[in-house]
Amino acid sequence: MYNSKSLKAEEFISDEEIRDTLAYADANKDNVELIDWIIEKARERKGLNHREASVLLACEIPEKLEEIYELAQQIKKDFYGNRIVLFAPLYLSNYCVNGCVYCPYHMKNKHIARKKLTQEEIVKEVTALQDMGHKRLAIEAGEDPVNNPIEYILECIQTIYSIKHKNGAIRRVNVNIAATTVENYRKLKEAGIGTYILFQETYHKKSYEQLHPTGPKHDYAYHTEAMDRAMEGGIDDVGLGVLFGLEMYRYEFAGLLMHAEHLEAVHGVGPHTISVPRLKRADDIDPDTFDNGISDDIFAKICALIRISVPYTGMIISTRESQAVREKVLPLGVSQISGASRTSVGGYAEPEPEYENSEQFDVSDTRTLDEVVNWLMKMDYIPSFCTACYREGRTGDRFMALCKNMQILNCCHPNALMTLKEYLEDYASEETKKIGMALIERELQNIPNPKVKQIATEHIHDIAEGRRDFRF
Ligand code: SAM
Repeated sequence: MYNSKSLKAEEFISDEEIRDTLAYADANKDNVELIDWIIEKARERKGLNHREASVLLACEIPEKLEEIYELAQQIKKDFYGNRIVLFAPLYLSNYCVNGCVYCPYHMKNKHIARKKLTQEEIVKEVTALQDMGHKRLAIEAGEDPVNNPIEYILECIQTIYSIKHKNGAIRRVNVNIAATTVENYRKLKEAGIGTYILFQETYHKKSYEQLHPTGPKHDYAYHTEAMDRAMEGGIDDVGLGVLFGLEMYRYEFAGLLMHAEHLEAVHGVGPHTISVPRLKRADDIDPDTFDNGISDDIFAKICALIRISVPYTGMIISTRESQAVREKVLPLGVSQISGASRTSVGGYAEPEPEYENSEQFDVSDTRTLDEVVNWLMKMDYIPSFCTACYREGRTGDRFMALCKNMQILNCCHPNALMTLKEYLEDYASEETKKIGMALIERELQNIPNPKVKQIATEHIHDIAEGRRDFRF
């Protein structure tokens, strides 16, 4: 039985409810009256439930799709402005005991180089990341209780936060590791992590079990209920995602929104972010062997619908997507992107020799961080390295309150400008710096509160004089 408040995976992600939802969506995909009503509801900025959003996903009427894209762009502007937060993944270890059939880290893959960073290597990696200008990382690891126990992950986090190279610092570490216990989530919280990210991969239980034939990840319920344990352990910023390409996208989309509704119903706060990774080519993995790949147009439609369905949830696009696809979906609601990513273990300090492939997947966007920053600004986005919210304790519902009260222009906007200024001073090329300085001048005028505007202007000046790390 479907019950969004249940703590049992098969009840809050009910297969029956998803099937009914898809049938309802098919039956109503040309029901203009209902579609108009749903779009009107979304205009109120209060989100849509999985049924309503699924009708829009099934709808193929061009004028209605146009309205949805326009609304997604408007909501993105209202809640997130033109800021795009930047981060990089840091792969700690690719040792893994799972059998995920789409991931090259699967245990049976013998031709991938297995690596695990030592603390000294982490210092090198993080120094290289700081020298690019990164302030925010997402750490990634395979699941291996012997090689990557929680103590190893905690030690890595401590090392990462301790490294201060020149003006550099990693100010927020998000964590993408396998589902674990409440006790371990509590330890991660105490270690000062930002968001705990875990991709569901697929919400379809039967496919999930086939795609994860061996290892601890095989347990669908344990994996699906992980976010509840994370929240019980005190982590209130969690990040959802599915790996598009594995199962039918409409099934996944409904499951993803049901998961968000569940978190809101049980914990009073929805997911902090949603990621939309698509399956990529990798060592031992050919994406064409999976039947459910989605086109760029469907991908864009999904992004727009996530934006209007969960307006307060950030959306993340990684370098799995090319520059062209990123350009297409950025205005539809994306709030965070990775830049200059390496998916190999130890790939930042020194490029990996070809015979030593430890990469998780091929990246499509291979530009440097300076190129990404430059590109964003030329499209009138503000690249942001802000990490203020979680350092000020604005997590979970406190962050949502900021969004809901539309205080972003008086808070996130100046924080973005101040952290961009730090980037320009410390790491940017001459051309990027020139474009950025002009952008900051312009954007300072858009801060509504005169007092905030004055303080931000003073801090921008202080940063040019060598001071760092201001925040609202
Ligand atoms: N091992 C952790 C777990 O089990 O959740 C998470 C870390 S894993 C390095 C991060 C994510 O990469 C996985 O959750 C999966 O969605 C994604 N991934 C795996 N293989 C991929 C591929 N071939 N293409 C794109 N993404 C992939």
